Amino acid sequence: MLNWIIGLLLLLPAGEALAATPAELWEDAQRLHGRCLSPMLPSLCDGPPAVVTSELPHGYVGLYQYHINPRVVLIAPRTPNGPMRDSFIVHEYVHYLQWIRGRINPAVPCPDTVENEVEAYSVQSRWLVEKTGKPFPPDALGLILLEHRMACHAVVPHG
Ligand SMILES: [Zn+2]
Repeated sequence: MLNWIIGLLLLLPAGEALAATPAELWEDAQRLHGRCLSPMLPSLCDGPPAVVTSELPHGYVGLYQYHINPRVVLIAPRTPNGPMRDSFIVHEYVHYLQWIRGRINPAVPCPDTVENEVEAYSVQSRWLVEKTGKPFPPDALGLILLEHRMACHAVVPHG
């Protein structure tokens, strides 16, 4: 399935490069997510997480590794520059915001992690509408979220 996401990216027209900086994408992620813009939380929301390109597990476009370095978002170097790539940075920043709020950690039940994905894709899609006029492809999103839900059902419950 994740291979399919890469295929989707490669089939999308490159379009005009938006030349968005990580700081701009971080601002967009906060605005569209509705969290962490408050000056009451400067220590938690000070500056964007860094974005670095890195080899990722096969098929991954972006990754947020909260357990290794919670301020770094990884993007696969093979992902073409353009709005779709930037939208995945926004997506991973939403996961950063979720981590700040304690919604990403090993104790979070699997269905809640699906809800985290729903939220991240929702913000990503709204960002794409703003920048390109088109949402994240609904059919692709439906399949991605279905796969997340099926992964949860595959987990054998403890005790
Ligand atoms: Zn995600």
